Amino acid sequence: MAARTPGLIALFDVDGTLTAPRKMVAPEMLKFMQELRKVVTVGVVGGSDLVKISEQLGNTVINDYDYVFSENGLVAHKEGKLIAIQSLKSFLGEEKVKEFINFTLHYIADLDIPIKRGTFIEFRSGMLNVSPIGRNCSQEERDEFEEYDKIHNIRPKMVSVLREKFAHLNLTFSIGGQISFDVFPQGWDKTYCLRYLDGFNEIHFFGDKTYKGGNDHEIYESERTVGHTVTSPKDTLKQCQALFMGNPNSDS
Ligand SMILES: [Mg+2]
Repeated sequence: MAARTPGLIALFDVDGTLTAPRKMVAPEMLKFMQELRKVVTVGVVGGSDLVKISEQLGNTVINDYDYVFSENGLVAHKEGKLIAIQSLKSFLGEEKVKEFINFTLHYIADLDIPIKRGTFIEFRSGMLNVSPIGRNCSQEERDEFEEYDKIHNIRPKMVSVLREKFAHLNLTFSIGGQISFDVFPQGWDKTYCLRYLDGFNEIHFFGDKTYKGGNDHEIYESERTVGHTVTSPKDTLKQCQALFMGNPNSDS
């Protein structure tokens, strides 16, 4: 095996970068990544949990790459072994989590919107997902809430209240989808995984959502990385061949 370039790592977003959106990785890409590992260290970083990442990259994912960062690196694997795990609960502590949940539930209780269903707060390992209407509404009710929210700004108003009330917790609020918003500590985006890569002086990151507001934006912009925007798995492969395998005209 040829020697790898020391101090250099190629780090890849998963969905849209190594795989087509929400699809399984293509066999050619899997094979290419193993070729790439012969010349550079290779890591992957995805926002989903390891179960979902395994569904897209295969059950052997933690052995197929040198580093696998699931949930943006809250769960970190190196060479097939778990090296770190972080959660909202252990980071903030039970008291602060409770204070936030209590306040948020009171706020929702006092909120006068046309309909409410159940599951107003979903507790995930690295974030809270808050929904004023409740997550177990029907698709039709979702669509109606989205329209109502566009006019009445239920979510933006709620976020501004929570942001002010819990300023001391340094939280990030991210409104996405139709009915909810996510709450997580500042810096728990993809840049979180960079703390495990101190030994590398050249970190090439590849992602498809590198624009502002996209989930690859922060790590793409980070001073620690050389950012590359890709348009598809095929484009990822082509850019890697040109950068790391001295094959600038490759088109396959
Ligand atoms: Mg992506």
